[in-house]
Amino acid sequence: MAYKTILDEQHLPTSWYNIIPDLPAPLEPPLHPATKKPVGPDDLAPIFPMGLIAQEVSQERYIPIPDEVREVYKLWRPTPLYRAERLEKALDTPAHIFYKYEGVSPAGSHKPNTAVAQAYYNKQEGVRRITTETGAGQWGSALALACNLFGMECKVYMVKASYYQKPYRRSMMEVWKAKVVASPSQDTQAGRGILAQDPQCPGSLGIAISEAVEDAATHGDTHYSLGSVLNHVLLHQTVIGLEAKEALERLDAYPDMIIGCVGGGSSFGGITFPFIKDKLDGKSKTRFIAVEPEACPSITRGDYAYDFGDTAGMAPIIKMYTLGHSFVPPSIHAGGLRYHGMAPLISLLCREGVIEARAVHQNAVFQSAVLFAQHEGIVPAPEPSHAIHVAIQEALRCKQEGVSRNILFNLCGHGHFDMSAYDAFLAGKLEDYAYPQEEVSKALAGLPRV
Ligand SMILES: *Cc1c(COP(=O)(O)O)cnc(C)c1O
Repeated sequence: MAYKTILDEQHLPTSWYNIIPDLPAPLEPPLHPATKKPVGPDDLAPIFPMGLIAQEVSQERYIPIPDEVREVYKLWRPTPLYRAERLEKALDTPAHIFYKYEGVSPAGSHKPNTAVAQAYYNKQEGVRRITTETGAGQWGSALALACNLFGMECKVYMVKASYYQKPYRRSMMEVWKAKVVASPSQDTQAGRGILAQDPQCPGSLGIAISEAVEDAATHGDTHYSLGSVLNHVLLHQTVIGLEAKEALERLDAYPDMIIGCVGGGSSFGGITFPFIKDKLDGKSKTRFIAVEPEACPSITRGDYAYDFGDTAGMAPIIKMYTLGHSFVPPSIHAGGLRYHGMAPLISLLCREGVIEARAVHQNAVFQSAVLFAQHEGIVPAPEPSHAIHVAIQEALRCKQEGVSRNILFNLCGHGHFDMSAYDAFLAGKLEDYAYPQEEVSKALAGLPRV
């Protein structure tokens, strides 16, 4: 058995897979935050290009990947599919464990898959500059890379706390010519308002979104870009699953389960959707397991309801699993998994019983991450380590039951910028938080009435 399978460049997918026409139930429309009426293309046009607005609601099953986007993808795609034989031996399991590794992208995660596509469609429509927010810095670096490659300006509003805690993510964005400011900043009305009230405000993703959207809405040459949650973002990420499927076919293997972490749900949708199609077509019984932190358990403990996409209540209201937009998760080390809601596509598939969800604690997650690194070499990001942990649990269950199953998980990023989290774990200083039910209930009581 090959330890890793890498497809040739010519086998890079030529289309993304759009799951919308295959859904078991219709998606409910996003609503305008003020009027509570369905959002139309005109509402989105000031901040998104028409190419992406069209993809958001497209009924076309396969959407061609533009040549210019494929050319950039070829810098790191197709990404390798590994068989984790050393980990299997260490666990003494009959299971076959496979992982798709997205950490080989220049930014170190899956996020450039959509950043490159988004920059391309904006450039096509004459947009010169893109704004966004970033927390831990993974999305900001992906968009900085993409804008740089297409010769566009990029302005990143980085949550102030991370700006000082993760200086090297900022340096990386600056190498790719992005302008990075700590949010709240003096550059927008939203930022100035908050700083006037609280000059020491450490910022939040919600505030940074407000700043980036205001900047885009008030500059004619500028659009805004989002790194997860939206349908078009999950669409772009399906290159992961399409490649994984082809690589596994070469190995004559088909996954019995696919495991991934979920923050907004884009990497999970990306690896699972092409396989979910087989299940919806009645061709497979594969299980799909979305793993979230106990500290931010949107699917396992949230409600399936209409809620604001952002903390400030300015973004569209979407139907999703949510902990309430006022929910502030504890600052766990998997920063990318601290979103109060979940992609509407993932939420609907959970609701319909196609995807199952599981919540895990961060100490157990880091224990599995270290075990993985010691046998497979790669030091994983804290986010995909949630998937590694459940993959290991499932492999051990195979051992107990004496059955072999094919387990595939998404290793959606490396952990080279997260070594302070490993430090804390190794020093025994990591805390496990389960969010108190009364806090969840309080935040859910604040859902908008629609
Ligand atoms: C952003 C990020 C996540 C969370 O976002 P999803 O949309 O759920 O994929 C997870 N892992 C990594 C490495 C990330 O950069």
